[in-house]
Amino acid sequence: MKVLVIGGGAREHALCRSLSLDPDVTAVHCAPGNAGIAEVAELHQVDALDGAAVARLAADLEAGLVVVGPEAPLVAGVADAVRAAGIPCFGPSEEAAQLEGSKAFAKDVMAAAGVPTARSYVCTTPEEIDEALDAFGAPYVVKDDGLAAGKGVVVTTDLEQARAHALSCERVVIEEYLDGPEVSLFAITDGTTVLPLTPAQDFKRALDDDEGPNTGGMGAYSPLPWADPKLVDEVLATVLQPTVDELRRRGTPFSGLLYAGLAITSRGVRVIEFNARFGDPETQVVLARLKTPLAGVLLHAANGTLDSEPPLTWRDDAAVTVVIASHNYPGTPRTGDPITGLDQVAEHDAPHAYVLHAGTKRDGDAVVSAGGRVLSVTATGKDLAQARERAYAAAGRIRLEGSHHRTDIARKAAGQ
Ligand code: AMP
Repeated sequence: MKVLVIGGGAREHALCRSLSLDPDVTAVHCAPGNAGIAEVAELHQVDALDGAAVARLAADLEAGLVVVGPEAPLVAGVADAVRAAGIPCFGPSEEAAQLEGSKAFAKDVMAAAGVPTARSYVCTTPEEIDEALDAFGAPYVVKDDGLAAGKGVVVTTDLEQARAHALSCERVVIEEYLDGPEVSLFAITDGTTVLPLTPAQDFKRALDDDEGPNTGGMGAYSPLPWADPKLVDEVLATVLQPTVDELRRRGTPFSGLLYAGLAITSRGVRVIEFNARFGDPETQVVLARLKTPLAGVLLHAANGTLDSEPPLTWRDDAAVTVVIASHNYPGTPRTGDPITGLDQVAEHDAPHAYVLHAGTKRDGDAVVSAGGRVLSVTATGKDLAQARERAYAAAGRIRLEGSHHRTDIARKAAGQ
């Protein structure tokens, strides 16, 4: 089978890498891809938000499966266009992707499905905003009701900052603060059957010790040695299956990757948010641990035959990903800087550590930065301490002027 992956981040590099290692896959194509993906897939140019163009490319390539990585094409209906062309597509419809595209829609689905989440108000006027902020008190949680690449959320004890962010949004969700550690749990679903993956934790803040602004994600690890072994079963029963059932009941079945962002609070598990696609950087560590070949599972989800898929199997290894970001990220990043040391990682750290590319491109013989998050240095090991050591050893070989990365990814979980 030939597979076409849409996107060009480290998540898509991880997907393309896993697909290229799958014996059932004869060719991996990616659009637009990046300098790293070019080593495991053939790259193509396409407007990823243009469903007809993506469907045409998939047909030209005789792809047996299209995998849509990022949220924006899903919310723009790209999966619908590919399916309408008769090509199996892993990714939800435009309507089902509203689970990520609109926080208000997600809250409505959760309420109908009885899924535990933070109490919230949807506000559009300054009066409603003040009332909601007053009702919940500090810390304030203020979320833009639209896609914001993980950056539309402000959590602050400063009332003026909370109000200013709320007023800057057209529609805003203001909600109760959830304490406790966060967990990302992905599930592959065909709209009926739900197959949970292994839990991971990501690091959203830019700086060590969870300081600095929110980002798309600065690192991740899996497994979670501190989590209750029954967590996955519990979330499947109380969150994932009821959500999938509710969307099917509404006539907008969700097939693809359902991502539950969870808070493990003192009062139990609560959903912080849903995403409609693989999370970045958690995908990098989850796929590093997945033993089951990926393509067949994604194809079963796309075809509605996931009930015939045996449970997924996982390596005992732990995995850690460290994101290397451009100067000034998550502000407007500086780009065009040369990246060196990639060959050193390949020489000294493979196969346990490897570099997944995000914002990179080729410039002649050089690889240069081309975005905010530039690389995901990923490593596996017998435990988190070893995976962590390997990931940081590899990250230390990479040179990118002005770049920054967190030094505390998985530190606490590794008992350090
Ligand atoms: P979201 O885009 O909804 O995932 O929010 C981004 C980040 O903001 C989350 O990963 C949390 O760290 C934080 N956050 C969101 N909602 C809440 C909440 N209700 N309570 C505490 N923190 C939150």
